[in-house]
Amino acid sequence: MSSVRWPAWLPLRDDLRERTPYGAPQHQVSVRLNTNENPHGPSTALVEQIAADVARIAGTLNRYPDRDALALRTALAAHLNARNALALGAEQIWVANGSNEVIQQLFMACGGPDRTAVGFVPSYSMHALIAHACNTTWEEIPRSSDFAIAIDRKRLEQRRPKLVFVTSPNNPTGTAVSMDTLRGLAEITADLGALLVVDEAYAEFARDPSSTALSLQSAFAHVVVLRTMSKAFALAGARVGYLVADPSVVEALQLVRLPYHLSSVTQAVALAALEHAEQLLASVDQVRAERDRLASRLTALGLEVVPSDANFLLFAVPGRPHEIWQQLLDSGVLIRDVGLDGYLRVTAGTSEENDRFLAAITTLIQSTR
Ligand SMILES: *Cc1c(COP(=O)(O)O)cnc(C)c1O
Repeated sequence: MSSVRWPAWLPLRDDLRERTPYGAPQHQVSVRLNTNENPHGPSTALVEQIAADVARIAGTLNRYPDRDALALRTALAAHLNARNALALGAEQIWVANGSNEVIQQLFMACGGPDRTAVGFVPSYSMHALIAHACNTTWEEIPRSSDFAIAIDRKRLEQRRPKLVFVTSPNNPTGTAVSMDTLRGLAEITADLGALLVVDEAYAEFARDPSSTALSLQSAFAHVVVLRTMSKAFALAGARVGYLVADPSVVEALQLVRLPYHLSSVTQAVALAALEHAEQLLASVDQVRAERDRLASRLTALGLEVVPSDANFLLFAVPGRPHEIWQQLLDSGVLIRDVGLDGYLRVTAGTSEENDRFLAAITTLIQSTR
């Protein structure tokens, strides 16, 4: 959108004038497999509980919410402890309006002019966008051809980062980073005086759920693990993301967060969802099975599919991915052109949605042979 002519009177920062807003297209088509949401909506029981809980707090909306969201952080700690055999306390959890807001708070606290953050690309584009918005230099280290991270201490040392981002399972590739690599990065970043931020937005979909940086976090105070309720928890519309970190990191973020950042309504909705965690996470098994079915069907079509530990697949479309993306859209199926040469990304939807996608792409691929 560098075609935007900003009005002369608008004192917009120079470095923002040529930038474009984050924009996954929001087309109103019947099959939307482009933003990695969970396709299964909340159950009737959860909808009723959310409605009742929100009704109960509606009468108190004249008051500000709990600034520290203590009940919610306590419930998130209990949830993680039960699933990962940990002993986290609320003082190690921070929660905000989506993990994107947590990322922004990390940049506000530890980034800024004269500071550098590093990411391993291709990865989640918001890390770079938020870095720029927060005036932090963003440096990219390319992943290898299979999207793994080759540890290169020198290269990291040269950049003197204060924040190092690793997404695992990675978006848009779906690939998980090995525990050995994460541990290696934790050791280097400890020496560099940087935070190692492991974005685990898709952790619940991993084939090996025990491979999470949560175990590293208990050994390394500078390791920060980001989680979200937007994906496995099927709560993207509520905007709830959180981190697990040393209590000092949580305290540092309170220096930069807006007061009362998380509304009473959001806190109530997230608490209700956590009470239904068992049922919400049951849909994860279905999504995983659909992901694997999509992978084998695409492979059978002769397409290369990147092994995925997430709820989406990256697959190679030799030649003209954007044309295929457009033709799928014309037949009512929206997937994602992530701007990665030769590849497209599809989110695992319901089995009906996936069937529609598979039928459409089968026709397109076969017609080009
Ligand atoms: C979807 C996603 C998020 C989630 O962001 P929210 O703000 O919590 O909705 C974070 N990180 C990655 C890598 C993602 O793909």
